[in-house]
Amino acid sequence: ADGAPILNLQNVESSYGPIKAIRGVSLQVRRGEVATVLGSNGAGKTTILKTISGIIDPRKGSVQFCGQDITAHDPAAIVRRGLSHVPEGREVFPLLSVRDNLLMGAYTRGDRDAVARDIETVYGYFPILAERKDQDAGLLSGGQQQMLAISRALMAAPTLILLDEPSLGLSPRLTKEIFEIVVRINRERGTTILLVEQNANMALNASDYGYVLENGRIVMEDRCAVLREKDDIKEFYLGMK
Ligand code: ATP
Repeated sequence: ADGAPILNLQNVESSYGPIKAIRGVSLQVRRGEVATVLGSNGAGKTTILKTISGIIDPRKGSVQFCGQDITAHDPAAIVRRGLSHVPEGREVFPLLSVRDNLLMGAYTRGDRDAVARDIETVYGYFPILAERKDQDAGLLSGGQQQMLAISRALMAAPTLILLDEPSLGLSPRLTKEIFEIVVRINRERGTTILLVEQNANMALNASDYGYVLENGRIVMEDRCAVLREKDDIKEFYLGMK
């Protein structure tokens, strides 16, 4: 991380009809870091990511990406600027092959040779996807679909990846494997990552900087090395006493 914020949310409020899901969230992600938003079920984590990627328009506040205002911009335009979102529940195209899912991730790019190289790179991260490249994505296991969803996001050659609950529904072993690759992608490619998680232990170990979200508000933020040592975090998020 070189210290310059690549993503900057100021006082963002988003609602579903009368329900306020996030209430004045300000957060920054610096270029090259892995940042995390921790919070329990319903805290508003998914809503933050959807607001950043343009799926939800906020009632108030602003979202800046690479120094430019993207608040409520069209999601496709935001992807073209270099911001990819891996949604909760993966949402791969079940009737397309693994390889075609990856190509869909690269649909904004014209550089065919580079796309072909990037497919080989993601097969290097997740060899199982290479083995199953001609099979329908709907036939993959949950963990393999998560690998495919992350890989598909990488195929857009993003500057920033938003990752929604990568551990959801996965075994501890697969969760660990996926987090290791996420960290590797950050280190090797320099891709900045913002991930939201209920699995605080995994998220704090993988990330540089963390925010804690409760009822739609950020209640704590610090470097993850510091957060891990805080009594409240140990008790409520890490299950230590
Ligand atoms: P989870 O881990 O369960 O996804 P979360 O922290 O991501 O939790 P959000 O999904 O952002 O939380 O939800 C925040 C709040 O907004 C919750 O109170 C939730 O019930 C509400 N909410 C989310 N989606 C909708 C919707 N489509 N319509 C109405 N309320 C919603």
